[in-house]
Amino acid sequence: MLQNCVRAPPLVIPGLVHEAYLAGSRHTAVTPTLIKSEVDGDEVDLKWEAIGSSVYSVTASGSLVITGWANGKPKYDYNRFHVLCSCPDGVRQHESSSAERLYVCKHAKSALDSVCDREAAKSLQVKKAAMIAKHEEERKRRVAYLEEQRSEQEKILPNERARIEYGLSKYSDGEIVKMVKEAANSVEGLQALVKIFPSTVMPAKKSIKCGRCKKIYDPQIKSDLICREEHPDDRVSTEWDGSKKSWMHCRRCDKTFGLNGFYSWGKRRRDEPEEEGDYCYETTHVPVDEFDEENDPILAGLEDEDY
Ligand SMILES: [Zn+2]
Ligand SMILES: [Zn+2]
Ligand SMILES: [Zn+2]
Repeated sequence: MLQNCVRAPPLVIPGLVHEAYLAGSRHTAVTPTLIKSEVDGDEVDLKWEAIGSSVYSVTASGSLVITGWANGKPKYDYNRFHVLCSCPDGVRQHESSSAERLYVCKHAKSALDSVCDREAAKSLQVKKAAMIAKHEEERKRRVAYLEEQRSEQEKILPNERARIEYGLSKYSDGEIVKMVKEAANSVEGLQALVKIFPSTVMPAKKSIKCGRCKKIYDPQIKSDLICREEHPDDRVSTEWDGSKKSWMHCRRCDKTFGLNGFYSWGKRRRDEPEEEGDYCYETTHVPVDEFDEENDPILAGLEDEDY
C-alpha cells in the first residue's frame, strides 16, 4: 500500500557539520555501508563497513557539543565524540587527533559526510553571521571613538600627540622605561604616572605561596605564574654512550637533558635520549590554601624516593 509508506527522516548525528572534522588526506572514498545506527538524543553509536584493500570498520560514538567559539568557529570537545576507522590511515589520523582536533581518514570522512546535520549547519550559519555583524559593530564604534579622541586631542593639546608618538618611536624601550622610572622620583612625575598606570592596570603587590614549588609569587602578574622546579643536583647523573655522547638523567622526573655530542639537527634515532629541558615540571602555581598535595597529578608523576 503506497499511502502507508512513510519515509523515515534521514539519519544524522545531531550537531554534526563539516567543520567539525578534518580530512587527514585528499583521497576520497565511496560512502561506507551503515550497519549500526543508535541515536538517543545527542548520543550516537554508529558503525559502518568500508570496503578498501580490505574491509574496515568505521565507528562514530558519543555526542558532539559546542563548548565555545574561537575566531568565528565553533569548538568541540573530542573527548566526548569519537570517530575511528580500522584502516591504517584511520589509526594514524586517530593518533594525530586531540581534544581540540579531529582528523579522519577518507572512509570516516565519507561516512561522516553522509550523516551531517543540515539544520545544525543552518543555525551555525545564522550564528556566525550574527557574530560577524557584532564584531563589525564593535570595530566601527572603536574607530569612531579613536577619531573623536584624536580631534579632541588636537583641540586641547595641539601637536602634542605627534611629538609624543615621534619620541616613543625614536627612543628604545629600555630608554623609555628609564625615563618613566626617573619620573617616579618627583611628586609631579608620580602624579602623572598614577594617571597612566591606575591600579586596574598596575595592581599593588600581592604575595602568595605556591603549594607545589613553595615559591612566593604575585597571582596578578602573568609572568609570575610559572611553576617549575629545576632538576635537583643530587638526583641528576651523567650518562654516556661511548666516549663522545653524554646526557644528564634526572631520577626524580626521569627526564633526560643537557645532551652533548649528538647531532643537533637532522633525525634523532629512536633509542637516543631526548632534550627534555631543565625542569622536572613546568606548569602554573597553585595557592597553598587550594593545593592538594596528595592528589596533585604533577607531584604524582615524580619519584619521591631516590634510587
Ligand atoms: Zn579508513
Ligand atoms: Zn609553584
Ligand atoms: Zn627532574
